[in-house]
Amino acid sequence: MYILNCWIEHPVRTLDQTFTYLSETEVQRGCRVSAVFGMKTLTAFVDSCQYTNETQAQIEARMGIKVRYIESVLDEHPLITEELYQMAMAMRKATLAPAISCFSAMLPAKVKPASGNRKIIMEKFVSVSEQETRLTPKQLEAWIYVRDHQPLLYSELRKQYPNQAKALVDSGALRVYEKEKRGSVYLEEGTYARPDLTELQTKVLNEITESDDTVYLLRGVTGSGKTEIYLRLAENTLKTGKQVLILVPEIALTPQMIERVSSRFGRTLAIYHSGLSPQEKYEQYRMVMNNEASVVVGTRSAVFLPFENLGLIVMDEEHDSSYKQDSSPCYHCRDAAIWRGNYNHCKVILASATPSLESYARGLKKVYHLIVMEERINKTLPVVHIAQMRDSIRRNESYIISDLLKEKMQERLDHHEQIILLLNRRGYHARLRCRGCQEVIRCPHCDLAMSWHRDIRMLKCHTCGTEMKMPLKCPSCGSTAGFMPAGFGTEKLEHEVETLFPDARILRMDADTTSRKNSHERILKAFAAHEADILLGTQMIAKGLDFADVTLVGIINGDDGLARTDFRSCETTFDLLVQACGRSGRSEKAGEVVFQVFDPDHYAVISAAAQDYERFFASEMRFRHAGQYPPYTYLISCTFTAMKQEDAEKRARLFKENLHGNFKVIGVIDLLKIHDLYRSRIILKGKDLDEMREALHRCMQEHANDGKGMRIDINPMYLD
Ligand code: ADP
Ligand code: ZN
Ligand code: ZN
Repeated sequence: MYILNCWIEHPVRTLDQTFTYLSETEVQRGCRVSAVFGMKTLTAFVDSCQYTNETQAQIEARMGIKVRYIESVLDEHPLITEELYQMAMAMRKATLAPAISCFSAMLPAKVKPASGNRKIIMEKFVSVSEQETRLTPKQLEAWIYVRDHQPLLYSELRKQYPNQAKALVDSGALRVYEKEKRGSVYLEEGTYARPDLTELQTKVLNEITESDDTVYLLRGVTGSGKTEIYLRLAENTLKTGKQVLILVPEIALTPQMIERVSSRFGRTLAIYHSGLSPQEKYEQYRMVMNNEASVVVGTRSAVFLPFENLGLIVMDEEHDSSYKQDSSPCYHCRDAAIWRGNYNHCKVILASATPSLESYARGLKKVYHLIVMEERINKTLPVVHIAQMRDSIRRNESYIISDLLKEKMQERLDHHEQIILLLNRRGYHARLRCRGCQEVIRCPHCDLAMSWHRDIRMLKCHTCGTEMKMPLKCPSCGSTAGFMPAGFGTEKLEHEVETLFPDARILRMDADTTSRKNSHERILKAFAAHEADILLGTQMIAKGLDFADVTLVGIINGDDGLARTDFRSCETTFDLLVQACGRSGRSEKAGEVVFQVFDPDHYAVISAAAQDYERFFASEMRFRHAGQYPPYTYLISCTFTAMKQEDAEKRARLFKENLHGNFKVIGVIDLLKIHDLYRSRIILKGKDLDEMREALHRCMQEHANDGKGMRIDINPMYLD
């Protein structure tokens, strides 16, 4: 008989320990079993399995507890490979999240087809055979087409060569075979050329190839040709038979990256992001697991795919906050990527025009191998103009689009070039204020203003998603005097642009227009095909995109982010401005940018206008040093939630009183209510992260065993 130690997936309590079960057969680590716990049958992950000669009674006597047999083994092969198991354990230690939530974070929602009797759909494919046959020229063409496009669906061949397909199969020149239907994720092969590398690109490529270092930080201005460098690295890696993982921060970026990658590597590509259905995710997961995919392009969770033979990890736009998961386990994808790089002895390339301060500081300290590319491929950076909005409004210009931006837009439209307008807020009006009592309409579940969405004629809470009709009376004072709008979002911007340029073709891209499947692809494709003159949207259009005809980028309320109180608000503002600039003039035509801001003298705005990362880094590091913020210190944020304010506060206070060590505990601060939950927070700040973590772990064991109603975020991205 075998003794199993299992992690239990319990729906309510967070049980972060293993439990002992018995099994007649051996079960490998990482397989799931079903087992009875208390009164319920639950799923458990096997942590270890040992053979024993003892009887059940002997084991129970020795352990002093009752031990049960498992009900059944759910997986034939481990779902969690040895590498992923080790990574989950490292993540558990680093994030203080329970092991089971670390395992769950690694697996696609539909880990297995819902039941064993999923209908397997077969598809017909064709391949070339070795058999010698006489072919007509047209048949030969079809035969070559098959050879060069394997695996090819038979239906596709019939579409391409309707008169040759059947004859070729009948004569034995082609073979037809059936395979389980896969890849409902449709991949169009791209047509991106493979340019010769520039001198600088060659130099960088050689520097990386010849070095033995694991982690590289590639800081290259936007359009410096970073992507081309990692495509070459990927090529070299594939030649050695290993797999490549390319991480991108948002789904919005996947279509373009996929096009470039698929142009180079064809269909051995898997993609993985939150826009896929559970079934599609499962298929992509299987492709990676079975080594059918040699290149993966994906967002954050792709870092957990079960690669057998990983040879390169690229993390594009490494500074991006969407790489951080904000629910438990609050891991950073960068840490997971570096962990895997070390485990697999493979290179990890962190790339960005605006690296996070933490990464850049590590680059300067040689913890990461730093490489800088200061020049664009086309040698010209866009010219940045600043529109001081206070002055424009004083001159009675539109508060949405200044005269300067309007003029530049007209010029571009006249030249049939394209324009991107960025406004980092969606909806029509940001908030509505009662004319009677001046109160804003707030979400009934959160302490936050609701935005007016004209498209659907509804108020929306951007935090919890609640929607409601415009109230007839003020919810606060009951007045029927009506509401005053304040602030504007992308819907209103679209309206304004339509009014100013009635003939221009406009596309809007924000969370509201991209909720449908494949909508990102559709919008970006239409814009790339120049079916629109203006693309406007939120930050999802600011990064990574490469359109040759875009020669003007306008950033509306560009310094809005500075109004936040967060220690990272200058950094995120700078990043957004620089990234947005990066979309202009990437090809032959020179580009221009207009920043519409209220505070043109702020160092984040000035350094972004000059596209000067070093300058920003120096100023920002002074600010961080003065406030003792990261990267000079580490932070851990602990948020306590409860249905009543005083309960949340009480627990936060309890922790504060019981946390001791060589670090500060800041708070208790009451945060805004979200999702009907009151929140109180403390922040640990100190130089020794391990010490802080251990102190917190001890305190959790003594005072909050189940970790319920408590969220721990180590190295949080945001505090406000
Ligand atoms: P980054 O990733 O640094 O923003 P990209 O790799 O997207 O830069 O390159 C910017 C533009 O220059 C792209 O349109 C790309 O196709 C082009 N490009 C990159 N490398 C070369 C090269 N060696 N020769 C010609 N064009 C190039
Ligand atoms: Zn009112
Ligand atoms: Zn809400």
